[in-house]
Amino acid sequence: MKTIKNSDATRQLRRKSDGAERLLRKHRTIKAAVSPADKKRIRIVPLGGQNGIGEKNMIVLEYGNDALILDCGFELGINVAGINYAIPVTQYLETIRHKLRGYVISHGHLDHIGGLVHILPNFPAPVFGSQFTIGMVRTQFEKATEKNIQFEPECHVMDMDGHQRITLGELTIELIRVTHSIPESSAIVIDTPAGRVINTGDFRLDPEPLDAMPSDITRLKQLGKEGVLLLMSESTSTTKPGRTPTEHTLQDSFYELVAQTKGRLFVAVFSSNMNRIQMTVNAAHHNGRKVALDGRSMMATAELAVRLGGLKIPKGTLVSMQEAARLPDKQLVVICTGGQGEPGAALSRMAIGEHQHMKLKKGDSVVVSSTPIPGNEISYQQIGDDLTNLGVSLFRHPTHQLDGCGPLHVSGHAARDEHAEIIQLTRPKYLMPIYGGALNRSYHRQIGIEQGIAEDSILMLDNGQVVELSDTRAPKLRGKVTSGALLVDQSGMVIPEIVTKDRILLQNDGFVIVGVTLSKTDGRLLSSPDIITRGHVAIRDNTPLIEGLRREVRKLTTPKRTSRAGIDALKQDVKDMTLNYLFAHTKQTPTVVAVVTLTDGK
Ligand SMILES: [Zn+2]
Repeated sequence: MKTIKNSDATRQLRRKSDGAERLLRKHRTIKAAVSPADKKRIRIVPLGGQNGIGEKNMIVLEYGNDALILDCGFELGINVAGINYAIPVTQYLETIRHKLRGYVISHGHLDHIGGLVHILPNFPAPVFGSQFTIGMVRTQFEKATEKNIQFEPECHVMDMDGHQRITLGELTIELIRVTHSIPESSAIVIDTPAGRVINTGDFRLDPEPLDAMPSDITRLKQLGKEGVLLLMSESTSTTKPGRTPTEHTLQDSFYELVAQTKGRLFVAVFSSNMNRIQMTVNAAHHNGRKVALDGRSMMATAELAVRLGGLKIPKGTLVSMQEAARLPDKQLVVICTGGQGEPGAALSRMAIGEHQHMKLKKGDSVVVSSTPIPGNEISYQQIGDDLTNLGVSLFRHPTHQLDGCGPLHVSGHAARDEHAEIIQLTRPKYLMPIYGGALNRSYHRQIGIEQGIAEDSILMLDNGQVVELSDTRAPKLRGKVTSGALLVDQSGMVIPEIVTKDRILLQNDGFVIVGVTLSKTDGRLLSSPDIITRGHVAIRDNTPLIEGLRREVRKLTTPKRTSRAGIDALKQDVKDMTLNYLFAHTKQTPTVVAVVTLTDGK
């Protein structure tokens, strides 16, 4: 047997443990407490959203005896084994529960509404939003019943175009229509006795959106004239110069693509982007093709959009996926999810032959109407390789000029010139960059300075930080409240950190169980030690290694060890020895569990 170097194995274990810690640190709850709010000032507390793009957006706004929650999202794309998404830690809400008047939601993307099913039942209050946004909220609660979350939210649809205002205590709210990549997105206006606050939600200032419903520039300008104390503005694309091109420019690309395609055409879009679905439907209809929609979340959203009149599908155009599978190739367009290569999404399943009705084949064309979302670059590349191997013709936005088509995607977020414009329109006294990590918020800060806002009038807040301000007194940072993330798995359960850490450790080197059965009377070893491994080495192919381990375990069992302390010491010794032994031979440090059983002995 090789020499056991105790320190090497433990050092490697510590490194692995530190790696797991690093992964989890970003989501860890930081405990803090601040004194109650100054009653004459507006208090703003971001509980999420300031740590990255799409990061569980949620901001608390308080004045006097009233409080509102602006957006209540979850964070997808958590890179931790077995974790589906993260929601904000809401300990702070306990302290303002008595004055919570409502949740005001800017739009129906999950990073703005996904937290509601977990948070609203614990802190009930009415939910306010546009008709489509409220539809998306209701859908979330319907879906949540599958995870045993039963809750009927009290929802209020607000008329954006009629500039409806609702008064809640001393606060008055209004929604302003803005363009984004989901129908009926809005900015939120909150009027308080200490001044007016605007939260832009996610937006762009597209003058020609496909649904002909541009941002309500006139109303924003009017509010600006009347006076805005604080503009909280999203920060996703604050690194992009100029303006985001108008959505309208894409329609021609879709018409041309459908016209020139001979076989089946598959178009992958984000499930909530109804404008993109509309332009595909328009192009298909124009060319006499039928359209099938696939992907559960997209179907649900499209149904809602059709019901509310935002998505128009000509009669006879829509077919089910079953019918689609029987149509001649040249008569079909399939709109599906999965353009980012997300495993389990429709396009990925069709590519690997695991889709119930469709398998992609040579002669098919696939249009991917998106660019990779940060973090999805590898799967985006992978699905590209998979589709090319199948012999399909691929058209993707990043390579559209090489692929021989027009542009296929525009972002739903404002670029720098649009950010400058919204500052000019609303003319705020103070600017607070929101919904982005430190880097994007700092680029946003630069835009604010360029627009003539004094450096100390730009509020840079991390999650949990508290600021108070009013129209008569300068903003003051008041410390921090408890903030962080709770990690939620596929079943909807919040998973404690100790469990997620184990999962991270297990996914690298697996685990080994060493079972020892001793005689209760004299502590003799009654049978050969049991060794079970999962995710480590295959026992079958490593007989000498496993036999060697059994021999080492035998050496540790001595007839003296039958007291409780003796058994505990034996377990520890078996564990340490196994770890060192396996490290010496495999350079791996699996999770080792030692089990000692005492029996009457035969
Ligand atoms: Zn959004």
